[in-house]
This record gives sequence, structure tokens and C-alpha cells, in this order.
Amino acid sequence: MAKILKGATAQETHSAILDLIRSSGTVTRVALADRSGLTGASISRVVKQLLAEGLIVETGLGDPTGGKRATLLQFNPRARHAVGISIDTLSTTYVVTDMNGRVIEQLASKGIGRDTPATVITRLVGELEDLITRTGIESATLVGVGVALAGRQGSGSSLLRADRERYAWEPFAVQGQLSQAIDHPVVVENDSTCAAIGEFWAGRIPSANDFATLYLAAGFGLGLVTNGDVYRGSSSNVGEIGHMVLDVGGPECWCGGNGCLEALAAPARVVELAQADGPLATDLGLRGKRTSVRTDFARIARRATEGDPRCLELIQQSARYLAKALLSITNLLDLSQIILAGPGFSEAGDLYVQAATEEINRLSFVRAIHPTRVELSKLGPSAAALGAASLVLHSQLTPHQTSNRALAT
Ligand SMILES: [Zn+2]
Repeated sequence: MAKILKGATAQETHSAILDLIRSSGTVTRVALADRSGLTGASISRVVKQLLAEGLIVETGLGDPTGGKRATLLQFNPRARHAVGISIDTLSTTYVVTDMNGRVIEQLASKGIGRDTPATVITRLVGELEDLITRTGIESATLVGVGVALAGRQGSGSSLLRADRERYAWEPFAVQGQLSQAIDHPVVVENDSTCAAIGEFWAGRIPSANDFATLYLAAGFGLGLVTNGDVYRGSSSNVGEIGHMVLDVGGPECWCGGNGCLEALAAPARVVELAQADGPLATDLGLRGKRTSVRTDFARIARRATEGDPRCLELIQQSARYLAKALLSITNLLDLSQIILAGPGFSEAGDLYVQAATEEINRLSFVRAIHPTRVELSKLGPSAAALGAASLVLHSQLTPHQTSNRALAT
């Protein structure tokens, strides 16, 4: 901490101390000085300001250490709020959280479908205003709005969507347009990275754990957190595991390649294979449309967990491909923990966990050194929206982290 704070601005010091209080549970001023390396006078000044802003509260007295009992300080999560929005083709999810990442209110709405970016932004603004009114929170306590989007990220404030049929989104500056339309700062991030940040904050993963989150919505994405910080790569486009090639002669992928994980195992592929089995498609009542992939896939996955052998084989095949991809990622990054998150795991997540656990613990290069735990996220299908809200917390509480992303106003 002392090293981190060397050369830090007043704002960064302020945030770092607030984060130290948050992660400590309760803490005294003396312990804060010890842990941060700042002088007692500096700590007193920062604490005074945090108390005045309502961001922390005094909460009783600690154990006596050599005489006088010192006042304990505690983070006050309800002093500020964050909004997280996850947007994809099929659905939009909103969450309002406190500063601990606890959900206060949520809303589900339709996805972007074939709408133009401008139409979607107008709708988002309306839905967001309704949601904030419904929660009854003071607008001034809203720190910012985080947005999780699938697809390629552009530089600066623009976001590029990688959906080949939605080119209108490619050059559209979501962050700039949305922050102009609402009165709050906005931050945008890809959905897999959001899911990883959500696990770190709302899922309470310790900073010491290096872990990956595998996010499954329409496609697969990997989010990485190392040493309590997000790894973004050189252009925030890290983790495109969906385009890892698993079969050089495999089916064509929309990215231009062949045999990618996505082409072999994504929900659309599973639905396509089920559709090819006429009696099964009829039996399951599959709609087989581009917009029904999520519900069709959920139907197949649910039947698999109920023991239908045809559905079980389809899901297990998809899970085997994902397990192979995760094995390579584990070997590449020496991971000790992988979390499966997102709406794609709602019905049959356990089957994917089982396949990946078996494969990694059977073949991982470091299996004799340490196990690699694979588990389902506890955050549910709104993991990316929660992560987007956490992104706001991350930018407020840990601006000293090198890869932190600033809110745009
Ligand atoms: Zn591909």
C-alpha cells in the first residue's frame, strides 16, 4: 500500500484509504496508518473528510491496545449507489447496487434486437430514469453507470460491436452518447471482464486470488483478475476464448476462422444440432429463430438435466469442447480458480462445471502441484450487469490500480 500511494494524488490516496477501510471490515486510525504507511496526521485528515462525506462511520471502540480504546471505523455502503446495465442482442438487464455491490433493485427488458444505436440509447435513458425513481434513492448518491457490452471494444470512448449483422454499432460511441443523455458518469466495458470484476467485488473474491471468469451469453468470453486488478490486454479485447481453435478442419466460424470453440459449442450450435434432429426439435418445441437461441438453448439444457439422453449428449458435447479450451487456458495462465458465469449456465451449469473439473484435474500440467477449482458463479444470470455496477465501485474505490478505467462525464 505504501508503495502504491507513493506519488499518488490526493484523490487516489482518499480512495485507497476508503478501500482499505472497506476491505478491513472495521479498523482503527492507528491500524490504517500502519497498513498504509501514511503518517497519523495524514490518516486523521483523510478520515475526517470521509466521515464528513458519509462514506464511513464510527462504530464503537476496539480492543484496548496499551491503554485507551481506539474508535473503530467502518465503510458505509449505503452512502453511494451504482447502476449496472448489461446489453446484448436478446436482453437488457439493469441493477442498482449499494457500494458493497448488494442489489437494491433490478429490471429486465428486451435486447437491442435490430434497433439502431440511437433508438436503443433513447430507450435506455427512459428505463434508467424509471428504475432510479422506483428505488427512491437520491440522484446525488448515484456515483455512476457501468455498461457491459458484448463484442469488440474500441479505443477511447467508442465501442465496437462485433456482431456481423449489426455494423451500425461498430463506430457508435456508447459511452459518450449515454453520458450526454443522462446526468451521471458512464463507464463501458466488455461483458466478460465485467463478470470477472463482479465476482471480485460482489462475489467477494480475495485480492490474493488470481482467477478467470468464463462468461457465456451468446458466445464465450474470458475475464481475468490478477492481484485484485483486471487484466485488459493492449486494447481491452482480452479473453476472446470463443475464437480459440479446437478443430482445424471444424465448421466455419463467423469470425472468419474454422473450428473455433464458438462454432463448435456455443448455444447457437447446440440449437442447430437439435434442430437437425426433427423429432427432438418437435418434442422440445424449439422455435429455431435467431432471436430464440437463448430460450431454445435453455430448453435443451433443462431437458439434459432432467435426463433426456439426446439433450444430455448435446450439452455434454458442448461442455467437452469448453473443458478443452479451459484446460489450455489453465496451462497457459497457471490458474487456481475458474468461475463459470452468465445466462448460458442457468440451466445446466453443473454439467459444464463437472466436465471442466474432470478434464483439468486429469490433464492440467500443474495438477500435481495444485488443483484448479471450477465453480458456478453465485451471482446468477445478471453477473455482467452486477459486474458493470462493480466497475463503477472499482473506479471509485481503487483508482490507484494501474488498469482502472475512469468514469466519463
Ligand atoms: Zn471464431
